[in-house]
Amino acid sequence: MEQEGIRFRYGDEVAPETLPKGFDAYVIATGTPTARDLPVPGRELKGVHFALELLAQQNRVLYGAEVDAAHRVTCKGKDVLVIGGGDTGSDCIGTAHRQGCKSVMQIEIMPKPPMGPDDPANPWPNWPRTLKTSSSHEEGCVRRWNINTLRFLGENGRLTGVEIQPIDWEPNPEGGRPKMVPAGDPEVVKADIVLLAMGFLKPQLPEVGENVFFAGDVQSGASLVVRAMASGHAAAGSVDAYFN
Ligand SMILES: Cc1cc2nc3c(=O)[nH]c(=O)nc-3n(C[C@H](O)[C@H](O)[C@H](O)COP(=O)(O)OP(=O)(O)OC[C@H]3O[C@@H](n4cnc5c(N)ncnc54)[C@H](O)[C@@H]3O)c2cc1C
Repeated sequence: MEQEGIRFRYGDEVAPETLPKGFDAYVIATGTPTARDLPVPGRELKGVHFALELLAQQNRVLYGAEVDAAHRVTCKGKDVLVIGGGDTGSDCIGTAHRQGCKSVMQIEIMPKPPMGPDDPANPWPNWPRTLKTSSSHEEGCVRRWNINTLRFLGENGRLTGVEIQPIDWEPNPEGGRPKMVPAGDPEVVKADIVLLAMGFLKPQLPEVGENVFFAGDVQSGASLVVRAMASGHAAAGSVDAYFN
């Protein structure tokens, strides 16, 4: 791409509201940088991290970056709790194993999906809500569903455990999202590190001029590389049409 004449600049943060002058068209492809947080008591404890604090740093380390011990996010020798049962959570489990964790548990607030594709409430062509077991899960992991997180527990500012509670989902008489109800006593899970893998917030797109285009996750919400590429192609077509 450089050979084709594209200039890359690193370390510049650009806001859609204040785009730099001097360009005829703009494509904004800033992804979904804001992870969903879990603002329960103890969130500030050392040892509670967003998944990408672990995953992005580990990628940099694998590419040769040096991180001092005070800033290193590692699961080595630790009891690991991953909160969120999706693909990012799976990546955390695999990384925790590579780093030599002591144990990994993954909890998910939603019910366990069915094992097979025969759920009459989930007919084709809807997205199949079936249980996904990744290679990371196969490496070893306790998986639990219908679990809510009540608070993080710690000593001297450092995480030592997490209070969780089994829950159930009941139909909401007012309609909309089902109601969460307790389904068991709270319990404490030992954890030295928590990884929050509960998805990413869809950015609110601002009003922009007719020469500004959006592409990728920033437009669709968190998705897949192949969709981001298709969206990039579509945005390029729109820019082309705008110039012609
Ligand atoms: C942990 C994880 C695992 C994933 N695994 C897979 C997978 O296995 N397969 C798959 O298909 N998809 C996977 N995805 C999804 C995939 O990464 C995204 O769908 C894809 O990267 C979206 O591409 P994008 O170009 O829209 O955004 P991104 O790849 O997120 O790129 C956005 C870029 O914009 C930069 N940026 C953000 N804000 C600004 C700003 N204000 N100014 C300047 N730059 C900014 C960011 O630093 C980033 O480099 C995964 C996502 C995550 C989080």
